[in-house]
Amino acid sequence: MIEDITTLFASDVFSDAVMQEKLPKNIYKALKKSIQKGTHLELDVANVVAEAMKDWAIEKGATHFTHWFQPMTGTTAEKHDSFIAPVDNGKIIMEFSGSSLVKGEPDASSFPSGGLRCTFEARGYTIWDTTSNAFVKDGSLYIPTAFCSYGGESLDKKTPLLRSMQVISKEATRILKLFGNDSVKSVIPTVGPEQEYFLICKHLYQQRPDLVFTGRTLLGAPPPKGQEFDDHYFGAIEPKISAFMQELDREMWKKGIEAKTKHNETAPSQYEIAPVFNTTSVATDHNQLTMELIRTIADKHNLVALLHEKPFSGVNGSGKHNNWSLATDTGFNLLDAGETPSENAQFLLFLVAVIKAIDEYQDLLRVSATSAGNDHRLGAYEAPPAIISMFLGEELTAILEAFENGTAYCPKTKTQMDIGANVLPYFPKDKTDRNRTSPFAFTGNKFEFRMLGSSFNTAGPNIVLNTAVADVLSEFASVLEKSKDFKKDLAKLIKTTFSNHKRIVFNGNNYSEEWQEEAKKRGLSNLKSTVDVLPKFIEKTNIELFVKHKVFSENEIHSRYEILMSSYVKTIRIEGLTMLDIIKRQIVPSIIAYQDELAKTLKSKKSCGSFDVSLEEFILERISKLSGSMLQKLITLDRNLFYPLQDNNIAKVATYYRDVTLNTMNELRRIVDELETMVAAKHWPIPTYAELLFNL
Ligand code: ADP
Ligand code: MG
Repeated sequence: MIEDITTLFASDVFSDAVMQEKLPKNIYKALKKSIQKGTHLELDVANVVAEAMKDWAIEKGATHFTHWFQPMTGTTAEKHDSFIAPVDNGKIIMEFSGSSLVKGEPDASSFPSGGLRCTFEARGYTIWDTTSNAFVKDGSLYIPTAFCSYGGESLDKKTPLLRSMQVISKEATRILKLFGNDSVKSVIPTVGPEQEYFLICKHLYQQRPDLVFTGRTLLGAPPPKGQEFDDHYFGAIEPKISAFMQELDREMWKKGIEAKTKHNETAPSQYEIAPVFNTTSVATDHNQLTMELIRTIADKHNLVALLHEKPFSGVNGSGKHNNWSLATDTGFNLLDAGETPSENAQFLLFLVAVIKAIDEYQDLLRVSATSAGNDHRLGAYEAPPAIISMFLGEELTAILEAFENGTAYCPKTKTQMDIGANVLPYFPKDKTDRNRTSPFAFTGNKFEFRMLGSSFNTAGPNIVLNTAVADVLSEFASVLEKSKDFKKDLAKLIKTTFSNHKRIVFNGNNYSEEWQEEAKKRGLSNLKSTVDVLPKFIEKTNIELFVKHKVFSENEIHSRYEILMSSYVKTIRIEGLTMLDIIKRQIVPSIIAYQDELAKTLKSKKSCGSFDVSLEEFILERISKLSGSMLQKLITLDRNLFYPLQDNNIAKVATYYRDVTLNTMNELRRIVDELETMVAAKHWPIPTYAELLFNL
């Protein structure tokens, strides 16, 4: 029987359609009003919704419910309670109250708070995010929630994201009013995240403690073949991978995630999945769920999904492209350039607002894309460099330059594409090419922010984007609302904004050496590692931005800074300890065993009077020389990992871990990787790159 995907879609979701069907009309209306207007939900309404949700979930096989949230751990959190409630006769009933739906009180003391909360102040709250649908998974009803402390400070990624969406909606609506758009009640930032990942064989993964504990290989000599031929990118999908992808699609569809595009990525064993874009908060929840589904479904197929930014050195790392735009509640895309962008002043005003926001808050955008894992990826010639710049393309740049110079813009007409084979149909050529090297590229009706690492929560970058753009829109609205000559002041605003901020626009090759030089001349930041980047988060102007728009309080920013910096330190420390462990307990004994074997051969050959021992002697000498250097670095790394973590100045600790510990690890790796090329394959204790990357 052919499966009907239209009925499968969202079958695990307490969707709008289900609500409409299961809830009394007045309750449905009250709930919708609260969702759309963001108003308080009355308890009697919540009670009815909870009852309907429970009955629906039980029909779907659920016995429990859980508040699902996104603390600062880098992953999601859930604690399950069953619906059962004892009654008099020793029996139970299935029960779910409105108050349990709306609010949970998990113990918050074990979640990172960055000093926001003392350990004895344990209480935290989870609060139902009515904008994101509840769903059933693995026998539980999942309720998407925000998470805050007893004092009301946010301890998660969702709360500030929702706050930032509110701010940009308000400011963008103000601008639209000026253009006579009175019917628009709200503006929604939309996001479509493209998710990259690697798949490797489970039994090989289990033999690599570095992958198990850190998500990336800390050792491994390059295989003879990498990605030189670009033959994996968009290549035919292997049946084993295809079976995995088909199950992933189905499970995503069941959860109401509009899985759309899938393909092989550039590096061997690397893949991508992208959904249709959605409201930012929903897209964020969906992406968290997608990453989890990728992992759990891979496991069922005897594969392991690696979501780390740089699991393998020498081939591409994995990113997450954050496609971002602004849509009105009436369904209009505010960043759609249209056929004649030069005549679309409203579009140009939004465009220069983004240009100014990205220029002024480039450091914050960089902060939102930083982590120990992503440090290995950004700046390499495969991913955007550490410099934030924007690609606008030929046409928009020419339009804005004409504005700036007060000259007329001559639109380029769309030409027909003719590729010289008469059998192929003609089609109109796009007016602008794409640019794969830009970290923040305009792609016709949206911006694509390409710096995010594959494991990132999309909330972070979108909090920055929404707030920074909202700030500029607010400034624009204040100017234009006072204007006596709207057309004239509007043109002036577009012109001066572009003039003042065009340094952030770069349409050339972002991977080139010249760009590094040019960017320096333009005064753009080039912050290479997390330790340089994070302090920008707590700079005065950046704190002021968030505080002004009530997206973060100053305390919340400092707490996040502490959490992120200490997570950097912990990551490198765990990597260092893992590396030591593998080398001491696996690599060293293998090298000794091989040396022993060679020495025995040498001895027996010599005792037989053979003089042909040059090969054994050569290898032994080379190995013992490398082993000596390895020992030195092992001792150094051991010492490096004793550096006290409890320093009051976390930035100082992080700097030590970057400059000393990570450096030692890199030096140690170079030696061990060379040893790998000398030692007999049967003696090498862990799967090699060739096995990991080319075994599917
Ligand atoms: P690419 O060719 O770079 O992969 P696609 O056109 O396939 O780009 O789109 C990539 C992602 O961008 C998809 O998730 C898509 O839904 C999303 N996207 C498209 N339009 C918008 C929009 N207006 N807002 C946000 N994301 C969008
Ligand atoms: Mg893309």
